[in-house]
Amino acid sequence: MVDLRGQYEHIKDRVDQSVLEVIQSTAYINGPEVHQFQTELEEYLDVKHVIPCANGTDALQITMMGLGLQPGDEVITADFTFAATVEVIALLGLTPVLVDVDPVTFNIDVDAIKRAITPKTKAIVPVHLFGLAANMDAIMDMAKEHDLYVIEDNAQGIGGTYTFKDGSKKKTGSIGHVASTSFFPSKNLGCYGDGGAIFTNDDELAHIIRGIVNHGMYTRYHHDVVGVNSRLDSIQATILRAKLPNLDAYNKARRVAAQKYSKAFSGVPNIITPTCYCNTDSCDPNTCDCHVYHQYTLRVLDTSRDALVKHLNDHEIPCGVYYPIPLHAQKAYRDDRYNEDDFKVTNKLVDQVISLPMHTELDDEQIEYITNTIINFVSNQ
Ligand SMILES: *Cc1c(COP(=O)(O)O)cnc(C)c1O
Repeated sequence: MVDLRGQYEHIKDRVDQSVLEVIQSTAYINGPEVHQFQTELEEYLDVKHVIPCANGTDALQITMMGLGLQPGDEVITADFTFAATVEVIALLGLTPVLVDVDPVTFNIDVDAIKRAITPKTKAIVPVHLFGLAANMDAIMDMAKEHDLYVIEDNAQGIGGTYTFKDGSKKKTGSIGHVASTSFFPSKNLGCYGDGGAIFTNDDELAHIIRGIVNHGMYTRYHHDVVGVNSRLDSIQATILRAKLPNLDAYNKARRVAAQKYSKAFSGVPNIITPTCYCNTDSCDPNTCDCHVYHQYTLRVLDTSRDALVKHLNDHEIPCGVYYPIPLHAQKAYRDDRYNEDDFKVTNKLVDQVISLPMHTELDDEQIEYITNTIINFVSNQ
């Protein structure tokens, strides 16, 4: 699914050298590399504060702690996403409110958010799923109207840009009140272990969060709030520093691969290719920056998705199903409040989606083999 080795080969000299330097420096925790990475990412995203932490799940949890959300507060998020988002809401004793998604963008459905807002709602967590920004115009408007926080889960969207109705642009993760991301190795900006970060333009929130990640300490050995221990270590930071200057090129390579996939599938019945806001078929991967293709995810109709998965496995083509079970149907997150009719899209998507290999090292031959194998299969159904 991903070729981390091929990517490493291109940056091996810098990575090996800088990792060695960190080892020799012995500044393994909170070293200068972490602070430099933080500053470089702030510049790249054009946000005032980046607070590194241990992983993307921690980033979400710490964000919600920092906002002072309390048990009983309702937090709205998508039914069709990775479980980390709903997990931290539940872990903090907040009430997760899962809502359906849009069948075209796979992102949280803004009308469903509207219907789910109650006087107890405190926050919305849009996930920029598979690398495409959620509908931030509508979400920010709704948040303003109802006085809600917007927490962007940018674990799959880093480097992407959202274009507002008025034509202005912002990087994903710099739009809401606060955002989280993950540097898990397979993410678009991945380290060689675990890592994560929180972004915000709010000085006070940034200060609170900097204490929370460090055991609730604002002055050494004075614990003012209940915190956690969540750090990005210096070795991961130095690897991220080596990769950050390449992030735009990495995302472009993903878009180029995505466009080749989509071209091959165009006109093939029963295959729906992913779209970006300017439409994958017509947009130029060199300039379009609205999708960063963390995943390239097809919908297959009138064909057994599971049979296709088996067929690809038989041809040694890796593929993934993100995600096979809606969160509202997961044992840990079931709730009598939910009605199956409220999840019509997610319930369908979980049986239709299939994600193809997507990384920065895909070549034409691989793409052709993958697309031909899929087209042969669906045409013979
Ligand atoms: C990967 C991911 C996370 C969690 O990140 P970790 O670093 O693995 O904890 C959270 N949300 C989404 C949408 C993700 O894809």
